[in-house]
Amino acid sequence: MTSGTRLLLIGPPGAGKGTQALELSRAFGIPAISTGDIFRHNVKNETPLGLQAKAFMDAGDNVPDSLTNDLITDRLADPDCGGGFLLDGYPRTPDQVRHLDDFLATHDTALDVVVQLVADPDVVVERLRLRAIDQGRSDDDESVVRHRLQVYQEQTAPLIDIFTSRGLVAPIDGIGDITEVTHRIMAALTARRITPS
Ligand code: ADP
Repeated sequence: MTSGTRLLLIGPPGAGKGTQALELSRAFGIPAISTGDIFRHNVKNETPLGLQAKAFMDAGDNVPDSLTNDLITDRLADPDCGGGFLLDGYPRTPDQVRHLDDFLATHDTALDVVVQLVADPDVVVERLRLRAIDQGRSDDDESVVRHRLQVYQEQTAPLIDIFTSRGLVAPIDGIGDITEVTHRIMAALTARRITPS
């Protein structure tokens, strides 16, 4: 498992990770894997995993690491990940970083880059308020949104230092048109010689 591009997208809720993940997935021909989407799918279908995850998601808390790590081990073992992948919303805690590191080392591969989408908390709260009206996601209620931002600051933002010390972080301004943000990301990746093969 050494060919292809391995990307992480990291940033606060509402920074536009899901949208940019789809753009990058298309540009690089790699699967975009969103742990949030996988959990939502399981909740909707009332699977055992969904039943375990639901209360955490509704409260805006992270789902426990053990559940999340098992899910990602399964997904990354799928054949479509052999030529690279993009992870959106994983890892989110130091324990998840350790798990991903072990997985990649076992498969004799490594990350190429961590794209950090930067967005002001006031802007993301407003975006999520509009998404709540549009899509009705149960965790987009304003008080839950504020809690998700706090969880992000406490548990996930410190990961940026870990990846920065490895020289992997490309910080990107996430405010602007979707295509403009995609262009910024592509330019930053090209500057790092990361291009679709
Ligand atoms: P956002 O980035 O806007 O918070 P996501 O779709 O990435 O949205 O995540 C929604 C919810 O799914 C999170 O609040 C959390 O409960 C759960 N979740 C997603 N990814 C993870 C993860 N890597 N670890 C733990 N919980 C997660």
